[in-house]
Amino acid sequence: MIYMADKNGTLYLCATPIGNLGDVSKRCLEVLNSVDLIAAEDTRRTLQLLNHFGITKALTSYHEHNKKAKGEYIIKLLKEGKNVAQVSDAGTPAISDPGEDLVRLCIENDITVTSVPGPVAGITALILSGLPTGRYAFEGFLSVNKRHRREHLNSVKNDQRTLIFYEAPHKLKTTLADMRQAFGGERRIALARELTKVHEEIIRTTLDGAVDYYNETAPRGEYVLVIEGASPSAEVSDEECFWKDLSVTEHVDKYIADGMDSKAAIKTAADDRGVPKREIYNEYHKNKRD
Ligand code: SAM
Repeated sequence: MIYMADKNGTLYLCATPIGNLGDVSKRCLEVLNSVDLIAAEDTRRTLQLLNHFGITKALTSYHEHNKKAKGEYIIKLLKEGKNVAQVSDAGTPAISDPGEDLVRLCIENDITVTSVPGPVAGITALILSGLPTGRYAFEGFLSVNKRHRREHLNSVKNDQRTLIFYEAPHKLKTTLADMRQAFGGERRIALARELTKVHEEIIRTTLDGAVDYYNETAPRGEYVLVIEGASPSAEVSDEECFWKDLSVTEHVDKYIADGMDSKAAIKTAADDRGVPKREIYNEYHKNKRD
């Protein structure tokens, strides 16, 4: 296959294995072999892949902490007609990695972006979870900031789609505790760890079960958490429905008193009531003005 460049070069988003090197595609290796430069989130990890397949190519780092300057440099090369491949530390670029910014920059600069698809941890975990796959929401990483984490979880607690989160092992126990608080202990969860690797394991349990399990067991490896969506027929408990006798203003003010900013409080109240944010926003501000 011949890769044709226009006057500008092309950015290739190349998906690489999430563990098992056998999962790399033939086309991915061809593209890595054919480009002028490989921009890697983690050059050491990418070098292992390249060495394994005998690919010797110019490699540069492109990650969260150098993405602005390095992004401009990569655009300059693309404008000179060079072809560049971007690879994540594992899996598909632009999914929970700075590839997203590079894609935007290329589009702004009229540079062709194409993809060499392949492994992605979230979808691999979803299909192994045993939970509904028809409708799902990818939620990525939760913030390390406690308040933002809680707001994020509150904003999806009534979502009926299966939810997919990424998590690092050292934060897993806190995250599970926060999830149990937001979603309730009965919610089913699949914890997918070390996918495609020797110690691949899928634990299918509830949030209560997961919290208990990890009180006894140290989390190890990389995790994807796949969580059952909210049940459409579930009775909303009195505790969850604390707002039912409150006015919209009182409802929003309660969340603000709990520490949310007004934007998050309005969104959470709208999610609770199952109405558009704008409706709560208008009523809240109208009442505050009156
Ligand atoms: N771009 C990647 C993708 O396509 O999935 C994800 C990059 S993100 C920075 C890294 C996170 O993906 C990890 O913290 C973990 O949550 C998840 N992950 C990556 N490889 C994994 C694996 N082999 N098993 C389980 N989770 C994995």
